[in-house]
Formats: sequence, structure tokens, C-alpha cells
Amino acid sequence: MRLVVVGAGITGLTAAYEWRRARPDDEVVVLEAGHRIGGKLDRVRLAGQWYDTGPEAVLARVPEAVQLVEQLGLADQLVAPATTQASIVLPDGRHPLPPGTVLGVPTSADGLDGVLTPAGIARVRAEVDLPPLRLDGDVSVGALLRGRLGDEVVDRLVEPLLGGVYAGRPDDLSLAATMPALAAQLPAAPSLLAAAIAARDAGARSRGDVDGPVFVTVRDGIGSLPDVLVAASGADVRLGTRVTALRRGAGGFELDVDGGETLTADAVVLATPAGPTARLLADVAPDAVEPLQGIPYASMAVVAMAFPEQPVDAGSGLLVPPVTGRLVKGVTVSSSKWPHLSGGVLRVRSSVGRFGDDAALQRDDADLTAAVVADVAELLGLERPEPVQTHLVRWVDGLPQYLVGHPQRVAAIRSAVDAVPGLAVAGAAYGGVGVPACIRDARRAVATLG
Ligand SMILES: Cc1cc2nc3c(=O)[nH]c(=O)nc-3n(C[C@H](O)[C@H](O)[C@H](O)COP(=O)(O)OP(=O)(O)OC[C@H]3O[C@@H](n4cnc5c(N)ncnc54)[C@H](O)[C@@H]3O)c2cc1C
Repeated sequence: MRLVVVGAGITGLTAAYEWRRARPDDEVVVLEAGHRIGGKLDRVRLAGQWYDTGPEAVLARVPEAVQLVEQLGLADQLVAPATTQASIVLPDGRHPLPPGTVLGVPTSADGLDGVLTPAGIARVRAEVDLPPLRLDGDVSVGALLRGRLGDEVVDRLVEPLLGGVYAGRPDDLSLAATMPALAAQLPAAPSLLAAAIAARDAGARSRGDVDGPVFVTVRDGIGSLPDVLVAASGADVRLGTRVTALRRGAGGFELDVDGGETLTADAVVLATPAGPTARLLADVAPDAVEPLQGIPYASMAVVAMAFPEQPVDAGSGLLVPPVTGRLVKGVTVSSSKWPHLSGGVLRVRSSVGRFGDDAALQRDDADLTAAVVADVAELLGLERPEPVQTHLVRWVDGLPQYLVGHPQRVAAIRSAVDAVPGLAVAGAAYGGVGVPACIRDARRAVATLG
């Protein structure tokens, strides 16, 4: 049998690897439009160390990424953070991130001093006295939280956390898709705070007594995984090979690629972002097209910086919400966060660009890099603000936006695709944008085809 995987991001490469493990004698071909493998996974050499410019940490409590690293024989490469204490930058200064929130949704009014004003805290405290919650279907995170807990919770607490994961805005993002643990507790909870407590406790129970780090990384970079996956899968990876059309053919599928060639396949996994996936499904699964078109993407840029070694007192980093009016939306102090990246120089990365706000991304590379360096130097209070090295990476259409109604969209896509034997879709567009969720989705796709 021949499996063709379209897209050589972490999802496509994991699908190729899993297929090979299950069916060692099959032919596995991966077609990739770009000129390198990895998709959103990438790394650069920064002051002598590998340094991620895409994902730089993976959730350990969603186990798929850690499992994959271990399966690939790289368990000794896993690194736990030296600190996870981050702070939120607000117009009046910097405040430690309050502990015990559910993606920024507080479980009580305690511990919010400084992050919220006294009036904002009073609003949180009064939530339990509001009439019981009645939700009819999916809503935006912002719509629910603004009504129950006030604007400050959204703009000063939830935005930086949710924005950090999705580069999106709480007023657009689906509660059911981005905060499923909280959404699951709402129907039975007397208040939103009670639902947040229940979600927090359910999360703690499901983790049991496991006491490991929440996040881990890979010493040579998460961007080192694609090469290892390709080697382990033995897949025939063809770069610079954009798939332009997909049809059903005799007993299987036909795929047209740029340049006029047509490949045949017995099974196909589309591990491409929603836009190209919609175009490729127009013929074989037309009912999936419209819901796929309802998944837009946010673009962003990441600047990796090395400064002369100097003391910095910002924990693992800073979250910088739009209320500050700053250019950057976050700063990761990698030298403090990851033991293997400390020493010699100060390694920092920062990102710019949110869904619906990519004006800054119009600036040219030199201008944007200089502006980010200046913002970061000021935010961190650097005594020696001249970088010794910088590296800018643009992520056009970097992160899918799970807008209101996302779960229904995904269900419609899956049902249209599942009706076509031998075809599967997988990736960040569907059930989670994080690397572990992509790996899980790749495994699901292979299992449905198997
Ligand atoms: C800046 C940034 C930081 C992030 N940080 C984290 C983090 O710290 N932790 C975490 O868990 N996640 C993080 N993420 C999210 C995570 O990295 C991505 O969601 C995930 O890597 C997406 O993988 P994918 O394989 O589904 O898609 P992609 O990586 O987008 O791969 C899809 C591939 O398909 C190819 N393609 C598209 N069209 C065609 C076509 N027609 N024919 C052939 N090939 C095609 C593309 O070129 C691409 O290589 C981050 C994302 C970004 C952008």
C-alpha cells in the first residue's frame, strides 16, 4: 500500500512515523510545498546553542509529545524549566501571574491585588451573587467573562494567557474550543467561579499525584524533532512539492502536484492548514470546505535575541497584553527559563502580531527587529541593551483561530472526511494547536485509516 501524507509539519511527519510503525512494509510518501521539513517547528543557532523560533515548550501533562520524544530515543534530551514564574505587564507596572487560574479565569477574588483594580476585584467577588448561568450553545470567552467577571479579568488576565496560546482575542475565541475544561463544568455549576474551581480540581484529579513539570522542552530544540522523525519513519519526503488537487481514482486517490505530475495513493492524510485543506477537499469531500473556510489564521513574528550576559529579574518571562499599548505581546527569558540556555549570553525571544492586528508585521525586517529589541530592553530594564545577535522569523498564518462554533465546524469537517474511505485530515486546525495535540491528532488519523 502507498500512504501519501500532504504537509511535513509535526502532524504530517508523526502520521508518517505512526503508519510506518503499524505497517512496516508499506510505502510512505510525504509531499511538502516548502523547501524544508517541520512546518511551524524551526530552530536557529543563537550564540552557539540551538534555539527554537517556533514552539519552544510542550505541555508535559498532555503526554503525546513527551511520549514521542521518548519513542524516538531522545528521553535524555528532555529538559524541565528552571522557573515557570511569569509576570503580566500592565500600564501601572509588572505583577506576578496569579497562581491557580484556569487559563487566566480566576477561581476566587483572592490573589488578584495589583493585577486588577479594587473595583475589578469587587466585581469578581460579586459574581457568585449573579443569577445562575444559562448558556445556549457556544459563546466567545470574552462575551461570557465580561458579563460575569468584568472587563478587567478579560483584558488584564485572560487576554495575555489565551493570547499567548492562540495569538487571538478572547472576544473572538470559542469558549468550548479554547476552555473545554471550564465549559464542561458550566452547566452544573451555580456560578462561573464555582465552575472554574471545579475545572481546576478536575484537572488536578486527572493528573493524580504526578508531580512533574507542566512544560518541558528538548535540549537541541523542539525544531530538532522533524529530522529525527523522518529518519525513523523512512518516509520518502519530497520538498518543494505543493499538492494542487486531490481526486478519487481507481481504488484510491490521485494527487496533482505543482509541475504537472500526478501521484496515486491508497490512503491520504491531509496535514495541511485549513485553507489548503479546503481547496484540496473541494472534489472529494465538498461538505468540509465551508467549515474549513471558517477557520482563519493569525500571523506573527518571533525575534530571537542574544544580549551580553547580565542579571535580569523577570522569571521565565513577561506577558504583555494590548492594554499596555506595547509592540511585543510577550517576552520569554530563555536563559532563566531553561537551564541549558543559561550562561555566556542572555537569550531572549519575543513575539509580535495578533489575530486582526498585524500592522507591525508590515515593517521591514531590520525596522521590526530594532523596534522589538528596544521594547524588550525597556521591559526587562537591560543595562546592556545592544544585542550581540538577532534572528527574525515571520510566521504568516501561524496559528489557527478557534472562533465561536469551532467544535461544530470540526465535527462537520470530520463527518464529511470520514465518509471517504482512505482519507483523513489532521493538524492544528482541529482539536488543539499545541504540538502534543497535533501528535494526538496524527495518531487518530492513522488509527482511523488503519
Ligand atoms: C510562533 C509559534 C509559536 C508556537 N509555540 C508553541 C509552543 O510553545 N508549544 C506548542 O505546543 N505549540 C506552539 N505553537 C503551535 C504549534 O507549533 C503548531 O500548531 C504546530 O506545529 C502545527 O503543526 P501542523 O503539522 O499541524 O501544521 P504546520 O506546521 O503548519 O505544517 C503544515 C505543512 O503543510 C505544508 N503545506 C501547506 N499546503 C500544502 C500543499 N498544498 N501541499 C504540500 N504541502 C503543503 C506547509 O508548508 C507546512 O509545512 C506555536 C506556533 C507558532 C507559529
